[in-house]
Amino acid sequence: MTKMQLSLINFPYRETLSTIFENYSNDFEFTANGIFRRIVPPLCPECGYPMSHNGFNTYQKGHLGEANVGKYLCGACGKSTQEDRDFWIKLKTNLFGIITEICTRLRLNHVSYEVIESVMSYLYPRDKDTIRNMVQCAIEEMEVPSVKNIQFVHYDEQHPKAGRNQKYRLTLLDSVTRQVIAEELFDSKDSGTIESFLRRNLDSHRQIFIVTDLYRGYSDVFKRVFGNKVIHQFCLLHLNKLIVNDFPRKTSVEQELIKYRLLNIFYNRAPEIEFLSCLIEEEKTMKQRSSREYKSWIKDAKHAFREFVHGLELKRRRENKKLEQRNYYDALNNFKILKMESDSFMISVRKRLAKIEELWPNLTAFYFVDNAPATNNPIENYYSTSLKTHRKKQLEELGIEEQMKLSALKRAGVFGKPQKTLLDAFFMFIPFLDTG
Ligand SMILES: [Zn+2]
Repeated sequence: MTKMQLSLINFPYRETLSTIFENYSNDFEFTANGIFRRIVPPLCPECGYPMSHNGFNTYQKGHLGEANVGKYLCGACGKSTQEDRDFWIKLKTNLFGIITEICTRLRLNHVSYEVIESVMSYLYPRDKDTIRNMVQCAIEEMEVPSVKNIQFVHYDEQHPKAGRNQKYRLTLLDSVTRQVIAEELFDSKDSGTIESFLRRNLDSHRQIFIVTDLYRGYSDVFKRVFGNKVIHQFCLLHLNKLIVNDFPRKTSVEQELIKYRLLNIFYNRAPEIEFLSCLIEEEKTMKQRSSREYKSWIKDAKHAFREFVHGLELKRRRENKKLEQRNYYDALNNFKILKMESDSFMISVRKRLAKIEELWPNLTAFYFVDNAPATNNPIENYYSTSLKTHRKKQLEELGIEEQMKLSALKRAGVFGKPQKTLLDAFFMFIPFLDTG
């Protein structure tokens, strides 16, 4: 290990310094003046003559400090060389690695580069183009681990009553074979009950893709049982039901249009949107007339729309087609456009959009796993047969690719707990602080 000439100035940092230089041999020294160099200068690379110490070069990094790296001079041929400054580069790499991770996590949660720049001005100021560059380089280098031997599973609950006793039916269905993996009736559906039900019936060491309704609490249970091996998808049809319920039963054409634009995020609802758009101007005129006239008009308009929607359904059924799923690019774009207009929508819609944004990774998980299901349809069908109960502004393409990769990485469990904090990395610079 490097010999350190401890002085009153660097004495308090001896531990930090020995960590920094731990990989260097006894041949090196860190002088009382803070110069890193070989104790015995090397032989000249040109003529082989022993060189001598010849001052130092200073390397500075804003806000962090400066390092002095020894220079050598050959007395025979005049060749000048400099000691390797790996330790300094490594210190900077560690710090900027952590800064990049912080910025990447903010991006993962859809924070704009403008906001990241303003946050970073409290930590280590960097302009937003530099940040964008750091984040994008880092993302490019990260690899999404491939998923093999994955189990695709649907999970759902029913709440049947046995006499006056509330019961809970928990069901696990295999997505590929549509077979029931397990099904049990409980008196409670607290997280402990669900946890032990899952542990008893699934292989918690294998990667699992599991579809559920949008209720809170599942994610924590899944994490406890499967750790980072779980990919959790929220059922998109359940989302669509919630969207429909956000609107009053008697909607205006304007509200109906917003409803279908929300449904259009993940499914192709372009024909319905086009139909409603044609009625929008007429509705504005009709609303200026008497309320009796408007009521009669809206009744006819909504009737015509229901007929149209029903016609589309029949056509799909005849052709044995499903509602067309949007690709990730279109889904993200449709969502972003709605989010931009969010302020003009009624409160329930604004809340729904905020929720979709919050749950985005769980709503879009299926896009990143081959042949993954996006809905809990199989289990709904199973339940219904077994026990009945009750385009304005395109996003930057780079931004979308970044989001896709980030979501995939997150899903792959790449973002674990940090190894070091920003402070840990900062402390390493203390011996080099620029005191001038
Ligand atoms: Zn020489």
